[in-house]
Amino acid sequence: MKKGISILLAAAMLAMTACGGSSATATTAAPAATTAAAAETKAAEAAPAAVKTVQEGKLVMCTNAEFPPYEYHDNNTIVGIDADICAAIAEKMGLELEIEDIAFDSIIPEISSGKADIGAAGMTVTEDRKQNVDFSETYAKASQVIIVTENSEVKGFDDLKGKKVGVQTGTTGDIYVTGDLGDECVERYAKGMEAVQALSQTKIDAVVIDGEPAKKYISEVPGLKILDESYTDEEYAIAIRKGNTELLDAVNKAIGELKADGTLDAIVAKYINAD
Ligand code: GLN
Repeated sequence: MKKGISILLAAAMLAMTACGGSSATATTAAPAATTAAAAETKAAEAAPAAVKTVQEGKLVMCTNAEFPPYEYHDNNTIVGIDADICAAIAEKMGLELEIEDIAFDSIIPEISSGKADIGAAGMTVTEDRKQNVDFSETYAKASQVIIVTENSEVKGFDDLKGKKVGVQTGTTGDIYVTGDLGDECVERYAKGMEAVQALSQTKIDAVVIDGEPAKKYISEVPGLKILDESYTDEEYAIAIRKGNTELLDAVNKAIGELKADGTLDAIVAKYINAD
């Protein structure tokens, strides 16, 4: 049965290719279809072209809302730079943004299995991740920094050899510290703040985490400082299911416009106070 349908479909597609390629030219076959196509063109002029999403009318973003100023809870709402940027992208696409809060290392599986449309979580573009998802244009620069106690003897990354370093599970901090120092030096936490608390209780010697969240965390936990020497240079982008070029193009178009008209800078300035 299934096989029959797919053969029929293949035949129909062949026929369409034979009469000149795109589905737009194929609609000339029947008057009813032509009218529908005309109506569709009219609608497309009035509203942004409808991109197929997981839930009709919505853009479902998954994130891990433990990463201020990019995403965090403010009472019962998830706010932050990523939440605002994605709301602006959704608006440009004529969609309503819906945010799902999940573990950081579940974001890529959620996107690649088609349960959410976009992953926005201060997520660094890496070659490994590109095997599983596509990335939008980048929208921020970032770096991993080292947090230590104020009187720590650790002055730079080289002093961390043989020490216990706290990281957030599945992040670039986790991946690079594990690679450079070995698994035995790494203590993994579900939330960055938990790693920072363990450091303040001297259960570990340092935390390696993204620079902006690091600043927020240490402003809430006394006795800690960020070393001047940063550990990596990274860039954040939005993750999209591999091969979903329709959505990728729409998101990139929106990001380009938000960069050009100053909205992106204004969102960043709202959450990050210039020192
Ligand atoms: N930028 C880091 C990464 O992509 C951390 C992101 C996060 O913890 N939300 O791995």
